[in-house]
Amino acid sequence: MRNNFLYTHQLKPKQKGRQMQHFPIFLALEHRKVVVCGGDEAAIAKLRLILKTTADIHVIAQEAASEIVKWADEGRLTLTLRDVTLADLQGAALVYAAEEDATRDADIAALAKQAGALLNIVDNLQDSEFITPAIVDRDPVTVAIGTEGAAPVLARKIKADLEERLHPQLGMMARVAKGFRKLAEALPHGRPRRDFWTAYYGKAAPRAVDGGESALRDTLDGLLDQHLNREKRDGFVSFVGAGPGDPELLTLKARKLLHEADVVIHDALVPQQILELARREALLVDVGKRGFAPSTRQDDINALLVEHAQTGAQVVRIKGGDSVVFARLDEEAEVLDAAGIDYAVVPGITAASAAAAAIGKSLTRRGRNSELRLLTGHDVAGFAEQDWRALTRPGQVAAIYMGKKAARFLQGRLLMHGGAVDTPVTFVANAGRPDQTIVASTLANMASDLDDAALSGPAITLLGLTPRTLPQDLPAPEHTTHELFEIAAE
Ligand code: SAH
Repeated sequence: MRNNFLYTHQLKPKQKGRQMQHFPIFLALEHRKVVVCGGDEAAIAKLRLILKTTADIHVIAQEAASEIVKWADEGRLTLTLRDVTLADLQGAALVYAAEEDATRDADIAALAKQAGALLNIVDNLQDSEFITPAIVDRDPVTVAIGTEGAAPVLARKIKADLEERLHPQLGMMARVAKGFRKLAEALPHGRPRRDFWTAYYGKAAPRAVDGGESALRDTLDGLLDQHLNREKRDGFVSFVGAGPGDPELLTLKARKLLHEADVVIHDALVPQQILELARREALLVDVGKRGFAPSTRQDDINALLVEHAQTGAQVVRIKGGDSVVFARLDEEAEVLDAAGIDYAVVPGITAASAAAAAIGKSLTRRGRNSELRLLTGHDVAGFAEQDWRALTRPGQVAAIYMGKKAARFLQGRLLMHGGAVDTPVTFVANAGRPDQTIVASTLANMASDLDDAALSGPAITLLGLTPRTLPQDLPAPEHTTHELFEIAAE
């Protein structure tokens, strides 16, 4: 069996700032002209969607299926049975070429271009100017799903999942809510109002919706009373460990807190993918401390925490790994204590655990080491001094944080105190991330091997551990889990 958790080669870095090919927007179509060219299946499929709008719909076709004729008879669209002309497309907002014939569709495309209308050619992503997404319709709530043509099966699966998740009467709930928005303004802007709507959509509305619109309105009245009489919420700070960087290595609690946060104060080590789990309205504050680079001062971070919590905000102070390991938790907690602000600490997966998992080895082992040291490569005074003699004892295991710059110093001290030259030393950079890199070395070669590897990103130095399988035996994985899912879905 292959040890696929162990890989040496860097994955191809993600294309920087990959650009969207299609920009999703919701287009106002009321009274605007939409022309569908074609009278068969492809045209019918598009018409089913367009008929949900109040657009002025024209179908031009040599022949039309009975369903289209029926819609025309009902006055829902205008049907013209002949070839398409430029005049047909003039003034149109959208044109669908749905002839299902490449030559005829290309002719229509040329006319649409002349007429200055946006064009979609059915089943021809390449030549279309816009595409119609898969839609979950709970009017006025609409979810549009697009995969840029990459994974239609996946789009359908997402649609099916959402159809299941969103209450069938969500549209009614939203319509009634819209009529109530003015009244809800009696609640202060921000958190109180958000809490009110969260309570409505979360519990109150689903419970009342079977009673129809009037029951929903009654519910809103009652709920507003309740919320107007609620006491002001106190601010609160959650210290959250984000884990090594993979969003799947977040705790469920971390996820939930991020989603509920008003303010997220984060380190440089917390990747964008994780920060995106916060609500769009949440305030994101980057206070990253970068070793040997400009950083936010700890005093300023402390002050920020107090300042935001005192406004009544739910603050998430999120740090890479675990917030109880080399993360200055105590300093921040003491400041909150002094200001009388409540807080909680939510642990995360620390880099040492992620690094050990990456090499498939345990940090402790019966008969080898009955203790484990977590060390820092540098501290306030510069490179950190340690109990070197203890560290050189056979079988010792230590996970050294912030140890890259200190590698030569560590090597020197350990050798000087009698460390065996063949003591294993393994570097794990970007543990638990797609670009995870492992470098297996020894005390004799650790500094030069590290130089040669030119690792970028945070790295843990594991003293006393070798990877379970020699890294060079392993092929590089070609895809991240998320990409694999898309491929599997196709
Ligand atoms: N609180 C963090 C540690 C912060 S100190 C934790 O529990 O993991 C910063 C150091 O953590 C970095 O210099 C590096 O040594 C280590 N580190 C953090 N994330 C890492 C990762 N994904 N891979 C390897 N090392 C990491």
